[in-house]
Amino acid sequence: MSEAARLGLIAGQLEGSQKSASSKGSAMAPTKPFEIAIVGGGIAGLTLAIALYHRQVPVTVYEQAPQFGEIGAGVSFSPNAVQAMKICHQGVHDAFEKVCTKNVWESKQKVWFDYLNGMSDSREIAFTISNSLGQNGVHRARFLDEIVKLVPKEIARFGKKLKDIKEGPNGKLVMSFEDGTTAEADAVVGCDGIKSRVRQVIVGPDHPSAHPVYTHKYAYRGLVPMDKAIGAIGEELALNSCMHMGPDGHVLTFPVDHGKTLNMVAFRTTTDDWPDFQRLTRPAKREDALRDFAAYGTNVKQLLALTKPNLDVWAIFDLGDHPVPTFYKGRISISGDAAHATSPHHGAGAGLCIEDSAILAELLADERVQTPKDIEAVFATYNAERKERGQWLVQSSRWVGDCYEWRAPGIGRDFAKIEHEINTRNAIIANVDLEEMCVQAKQALSKRL
Ligand SMILES: Cc1cc2nc3c(=O)[nH]c(=O)nc-3n(C[C@H](O)[C@H](O)[C@H](O)COP(=O)(O)OP(=O)(O)OC[C@H]3O[C@@H](n4cnc5c(N)ncnc54)[C@H](O)[C@@H]3O)c2cc1C
Repeated sequence: MSEAARLGLIAGQLEGSQKSASSKGSAMAPTKPFEIAIVGGGIAGLTLAIALYHRQVPVTVYEQAPQFGEIGAGVSFSPNAVQAMKICHQGVHDAFEKVCTKNVWESKQKVWFDYLNGMSDSREIAFTISNSLGQNGVHRARFLDEIVKLVPKEIARFGKKLKDIKEGPNGKLVMSFEDGTTAEADAVVGCDGIKSRVRQVIVGPDHPSAHPVYTHKYAYRGLVPMDKAIGAIGEELALNSCMHMGPDGHVLTFPVDHGKTLNMVAFRTTTDDWPDFQRLTRPAKREDALRDFAAYGTNVKQLLALTKPNLDVWAIFDLGDHPVPTFYKGRISISGDAAHATSPHHGAGAGLCIEDSAILAELLADERVQTPKDIEAVFATYNAERKERGQWLVQSSRWVGDCYEWRAPGIGRDFAKIEHEINTRNAIIANVDLEEMCVQAKQALSKRL
């Protein structure tokens, strides 16, 4: 069966199964004479796959795992991310709306985080950072389960860990996988996360940006039943998002699971190195967390005491020391964490993944894009339009993380200065017009076609 016939068949199958999901373009026969391969099916890969598939751009996702999945922690999205979801596909936004949890109190609907002195036993709020949508937390696995429904299983290949990409004699790109198989495509987008193999293919395995670096921060992550959290810190702090600041550490909390669960991430800065680069998490005990935050106030300590006895510690790596010199080479490109892996202190890494997907999809679906050379022009445009914003986020996230921990030079523990830093930087992330960014990217593409 030809590729076009195969996709036409999938489209037919999809029509029945996805009638409820409205889209920018309905699932129909593909309109492009090329095939895009996406390596990696996390938030970046899946949103791009959905955006392309529903624009009738032939696409296949190659994921190393046996199925799509996310670890069960929380992630929050700011207004730019929510706009980008709608551009990718209305169904992505609907999925987000279905599983997202806002602050519970009516008076806190626009609050991003209430900031507190984490060293204090008081529940007094030092200052509040707001934005147009307030806090929007989702349970990662639930969000992924919802958006996976927009990806027909026929365009997904599992157990495909990418090893290499070479150009074949017919001009197609040939991907080889660890299971010994190969696959062809006209272009490859690496959405394979912080340890991206596609990034290594682009920059070379020995380039400093081929590997992320440890930011000397690690985090305990946990989910606490909401009734217990309320018992420990009271309704206002448990039901609404809070950031507890302190020296060399900070603890953030926000409700997920429609307010039934409190998501908690407790960060510490250390001078030690991370013991094993191959593993970005390591097991820890609740006692380790309590020891790390022993000098903090009762709010923080009581919350930590409610976590499970066995916790995971997450190493915070990023691409901040060695930014990637380019997001593309020829018809190979990178997106999401593969391109601009960031520490999580702005809560915006996944949001920028979705922005990347929206812009890449709009460019690839442009009717003028038909040939392999046009795809290269798309990737060059994407690189020019996205690199600065992605790499700014990585640096700003480091800075703002240090502000929360009273470590930033010239800022210290001056709360007015910390508030100013957060507001200024959050505005750069959130106060953007994604539709306009897409228009600008298409105008920039015109100059390269
Ligand atoms: C503690 C923490 C908290 C965070 N909180 C937020 C937040 O609140 N808001 C926010 O916006 N962002 C947040 N982030 C950032 C966000 O989680 C990431 O930016 C985002 O999940 C990255 O998505 P991705 O799809 O690029 O990569 P990933 O989610 O890492 O997905 C990569 C996929 O590629 C697959 N893969 C990898 N290598 C290969 C290969 N060789 N071949 C085939 N497949 C491969 C993997 O199996 C995986 O499925 C946080 C990050 C951390 C660490």
